[in-house]
Amino acid sequence: MLGGIRVGKLVGIPFFINPSWFLVFGLVTYSLASGQLPLAVPGRQEWVYWLLGALTALLFFGSLVAHEVGHSVVSKAYGIPVRSITLHLFGGVAQLGREVRRAREEFWIALAGPAVSLALGALFWGGRHLLRDAAPTLGTGLEIVAVLNVGVVIFNMVPGFPLDGGRVLRAVVWGISGNYRKSTRVAATGGRLIGLLFIVAGLYLALAQNDLSSLWLALVGWFLINIARQSYAQAVVQDTLQKTPVSQVMVKLLTVPSHLTLDELFAGYISTTGWQYYLVEKDGQPVGLLTTLALARVPRPLWPVTPLLAAMSPLESVPQVSIASSAVDALYRIEESHAEMLLVVDNGSAAGVVTRDRLFNLSMRATAA
Ligand SMILES: [Zn+2]
Repeated sequence: MLGGIRVGKLVGIPFFINPSWFLVFGLVTYSLASGQLPLAVPGRQEWVYWLLGALTALLFFGSLVAHEVGHSVVSKAYGIPVRSITLHLFGGVAQLGREVRRAREEFWIALAGPAVSLALGALFWGGRHLLRDAAPTLGTGLEIVAVLNVGVVIFNMVPGFPLDGGRVLRAVVWGISGNYRKSTRVAATGGRLIGLLFIVAGLYLALAQNDLSSLWLALVGWFLINIARQSYAQAVVQDTLQKTPVSQVMVKLLTVPSHLTLDELFAGYISTTGWQYYLVEKDGQPVGLLTTLALARVPRPLWPVTPLLAAMSPLESVPQVSIASSAVDALYRIEESHAEMLLVVDNGSAAGVVTRDRLFNLSMRATAA
């Protein structure tokens, strides 16, 4: 669904256009040039309608992008990175680098988009009034964009997740109850009901009025239901990981002296204990991490001549996480560092490691629960 052609950066965030958007842009331009514009300002040449149609569509989609920029700017102000902004078949989306952690953050991030749309609606409406006499055709285009922006505000403030209104609803329930999971369930249920309503309305209009374009509404409804379901599943994972301390998912380390060779490590430790994670110590100081996976990367005939120091990862190269952190902190840390594991540090000393696999398994168990 997401991804697409990268077309540059907006406020420092990579901006993508999904190929599906060109289809929608074409449809909107066509519907304006052949329908609304000739009706509103009759008697112009054909090319004027097409040019104005395309311009109006561009202004509208530009407004949708500005809406996402609104969400993004507030999100960044709260220290939540924004991975990308994408324009696609159903509009725009800003992909946040992590979930919000406080109801207050969610509330303001969710409101920022509609606030931008509302401001743009007022701006275009003002422009339309200024141009009423001087350029009535252009003024009509601006009026359409103004109305569409207000439509975007109304649509997005519907209280169902993943719409902005649903996020506001979640933030309010979350703020009052302090329960993230419950608040997401409420907002996601809203999203599913509204999605269902869209499907029923879309199908009804398509059948009763023989208007096939209403199927679009049903498609949007189906899209909403799917995202609402996914978002709830994500919230459950987030919640479980938040409540699980890193100490509960970490694996303890077995300390081994650095003068050993890989062969000696295998014979003296791995084959007898089955342990996978080792802390290599030199002169009483921890210097590196060695896993059985790293050992397996060294060809067997070289084991007797390879010292641990040559095969281990130096301690300073392994990203760290404090033992006081939650599993969700560890997950973000591991994601941003692209590491396979993190060193869990307790009061300056190595307490264990937490691996990508274990965090993934914990997420899977949370989803299944
Ligand atoms: Zn929005």
